Amino acid sequence: MSGTNGKIKFIEPERELEVIDHADVVVVGGGAGGVGAAVSAARHGAKTILIERFGMLGGTWTSGLLSAIMVNWSARGIFEDYRQRLAARGAWREIRESWEYWGGDEAPADPASYEATYDAETAKIVLDEMASEAGVQVYFFAQVAGVFKSADGRSLTGLVLQSKEGRHVISGKVFIDSSGDGDVCALAGAQFQVGRQNDSALQPMTMIFKLDNVDTARAMEYLKGDGGCRRAWQAAKARGEVTVPRENLILNPTPKLGQWQFNSTRVVGLDGTKLRDVSAATVEARRQVAEVTGFLRKHIPGFEQAILAETASHIGVRETRRVKCDYSITGDDVSNCRKHTDVIARGNWPVDIHNPSGVGTVVVPLRNGVWYEIPYRSTTVHGFDNLLVASRCVDSTHEGHAGLRASPQVCAIGEGVGAAAAQMVARNLRASREVDVSAVQGMLRAAGGLV
Ligand SMILES: Cc1cc2nc3c(=O)[nH]c(=O)nc-3n(C[C@H](O)[C@H](O)[C@H](O)COP(=O)(O)OP(=O)(O)OC[C@H]3O[C@@H](n4cnc5c(N)ncnc54)[C@H](O)[C@@H]3O)c2cc1C
Repeated sequence: MSGTNGKIKFIEPERELEVIDHADVVVVGGGAGGVGAAVSAARHGAKTILIERFGMLGGTWTSGLLSAIMVNWSARGIFEDYRQRLAARGAWREIRESWEYWGGDEAPADPASYEATYDAETAKIVLDEMASEAGVQVYFFAQVAGVFKSADGRSLTGLVLQSKEGRHVISGKVFIDSSGDGDVCALAGAQFQVGRQNDSALQPMTMIFKLDNVDTARAMEYLKGDGGCRRAWQAAKARGEVTVPRENLILNPTPKLGQWQFNSTRVVGLDGTKLRDVSAATVEARRQVAEVTGFLRKHIPGFEQAILAETASHIGVRETRRVKCDYSITGDDVSNCRKHTDVIARGNWPVDIHNPSGVGTVVVPLRNGVWYEIPYRSTTVHGFDNLLVASRCVDSTHEGHAGLRASPQVCAIGEGVGAAAAQMVARNLRASREVDVSAVQGMLRAAGGLV
């Protein structure tokens, strides 16, 4: 034990760590991006390991209980496979009228895009199936807590996992950071940005929750007349009955009869990668869940008998680190639908910023039928040869991130990066920048992707 600057420190003793497995492609994080990356790499022939700190695949889709997806025609491939498997089990519900009862201000201009809900429990099973069919080796309950690098510092050689068995190592040829927060890149010493350019403020965190026992027909009828219970909500705010810093509620019926999903809590001014912040945010968000539930039961027809069904097992984190790669996607790129020769995914969700400091949501709508492109360069980590990002943390500005973060697009980015990693392995390439991106585009098209 030692102390400097008033801080007490312990020195961790040096120890040998056992290498428990090895793969061509090692993906960290099983969210939309990680599933896209791992399934794609494995389907393209690479021996692939996927490491996930929780006990399910899906990330925000499942452990975050999201239960709603902004679907857009510009994401196909693995996302479309996932969607069809959910639909085949009756666990997918399209809600094309949702913009009416949200109050209109978050509606995409493009009628080919729509809101859908899904059953998150079924999603866990579907994602297990997809990973297993592709031959991905998944390790659950394993958090990446360190990295090993080559002597020149440009390549990763292994990852340190913390599991119930202690610490061990997984080695690999190509590493993909799909942790959402860019954990692997941060541990490796890569550069990153956090939040808005002028003040580093991050989009708020939100705990998703679900209510059962809702009279959906009566609720729908009421909500369409009140823009997502906007008037009732604002009146309750004015009376001091509710304190959540949101202008409206985002709510949707799920595929389960009488069940609704709520993207309606908002915790501002905290960072999802900081221990104290995420702990405090979780408690505050659950307090808000109780507050919103009480409001609905008291004031909104159809919700009088509603019962809290579930809160997410972790608070939803929209934005944290964005990793420096060879290209940074900007808000103008999204809004002006910029195209790139090294495209690996398309997107058409607009810049959509939940106010980092309080009430309000800024959406910059896109015209019908247009799309922007995600370049491969936004995934090749600056200063590293065999490390890529495939997650919401690809290189972007705060505004660019606010468009590309929609989950079908993140899954498509993962699919593109997974195919590039598989090509690195198949062609024995040393560096991600040696990848032939036009060949990757061919691989993605052949697999049903839109690039
Ligand atoms: C509240 C909220 C509402 C949203 N609403 C919508 C919506 O309606 N429609 C839509 O399409 N998109 C929505 N989004 C955006 C979208 O859900 C996310 O941007 C997208 O799902 C992110 O996927 P990801 O794979 O990048 O990250 P994540 O979903 O965050 O997944 C990262 C995974 O990595 C794991 N992980 C993290 N660190 C480590 C580590 N060190 N070791 C091992 N594993 C690790 C995590 O457990 C997690 O499973 C919303 C997001 C939030 C937070």
